[in-house]
Amino acid sequence: MATSVTVTGTGTPLATADRAGAGVLVRHGDTHLQFDAGRNTVARLLAAGSSPADLTALFLTHYHSDHLVGLQDLVLSHWTMDVYDEAGRMDLVAPNGSTTRFCEQMLDLWDDDLAVRALHNMRPPEPKVDLRGFDTPGRPTEVWSNTRVRVVAGPVRHEPIVGAVGYRIETPDGVVAISGDTTVCDEVAALADGADVMVYEAMRMDVIAQRPPDKQYIMEYHADTRLIGRQMAELGIPRLMLTHLIPAPSTAEEKQLFADEVRQGGYQGELMVCDDLDTVTLHAGTLHSATAQSQT
Ligand SMILES: [Zn+2]
Ligand SMILES: [Zn+2]
Repeated sequence: MATSVTVTGTGTPLATADRAGAGVLVRHGDTHLQFDAGRNTVARLLAAGSSPADLTALFLTHYHSDHLVGLQDLVLSHWTMDVYDEAGRMDLVAPNGSTTRFCEQMLDLWDDDLAVRALHNMRPPEPKVDLRGFDTPGRPTEVWSNTRVRVVAGPVRHEPIVGAVGYRIETPDGVVAISGDTTVCDEVAALADGADVMVYEAMRMDVIAQRPPDKQYIMEYHADTRLIGRQMAELGIPRLMLTHLIPAPSTAEEKQLFADEVRQGGYQGELMVCDDLDTVTLHAGTLHSATAQSQT
C-alpha cells in the first residue's frame, strides 16, 4: 500500500483558467482525505481518479471563500452520485466558529432542490455528511483517525482570520503536512516537524511589494518564498510542494522564480512548484513523484 498526495487546486481567490481553487487530496488505500474545496474541486477529484463518492473525510482549514466555494458542489455531488456509486458517509472536519457555521448553513439554499429530488427518487434528502467541529488547538492535536491514518490539526497564523489551521497526516508510509494559509511561523514548523512531504502555500513578496500600497495587505498573512526555504531547510523536510501560488505563474520561467527564491532561503531538498494534479507518492519511506498525471 502507498500514500499519495495530489494537489487538486493551486489557485487563489483570483481565478485563472488553469488553476482550480485550494485543495489537496491524500490517499492511503481506500482512505481518501480531501483538504479544502476551492473552485472546481469536484472536477479535479475525478481527474485524479477519486470522486466525491469516494471521500472518507473532508477537512477545512479556514473560512475564506477560495477554500470553501467548491464545498456545496462537493457535498451535493456526494449526494447525487450516491444513487449510482453508493457513497459512504463522509466526515466533514472543520475548526469551530465561522467555518462550521458556513457548513451548517451551506445547503439551506438547496432545500427545495434536495426535497424535490428526494421525493422523485425516494431517498432521504440529507447528504450523508457528518459535521465534526473542533476547537482550534494551541498546538498540534489529533482531530480524526481510522485504523491506519491519523490526522492532526494545528494552529497557523492567518490573522485577521481567527482559528485557521493546518494539518498533519500520518500513515504507515510516512507523514504529510499541509500549511493551509499562513505566514511562515513556529506553528507551521510544529506541524511540519519530521514530515516526509510538505504542501506549503507560497507568495513571492518582491512582486507584491511592487503593487500600490493599498494592494499590499496580503503580504501580512501569506508565506514568503525565501522564509519557506529557510524553514524547510532548518527542519530537513525532504520534499516540498508549493501551492496557492501568488502571483499565479503562467510560464515555466515564472514557476522557476518561485523555486529560485526558495533555494535562496537555503532549501536543497526536492521541490515542486505545483500545477493542478501534481502528485507525490510515499512508499514506506521511498519517495516517488509524478507531475501532472492521474493516480489511480
Ligand atoms: Zn487562500
Ligand atoms: Zn485564506
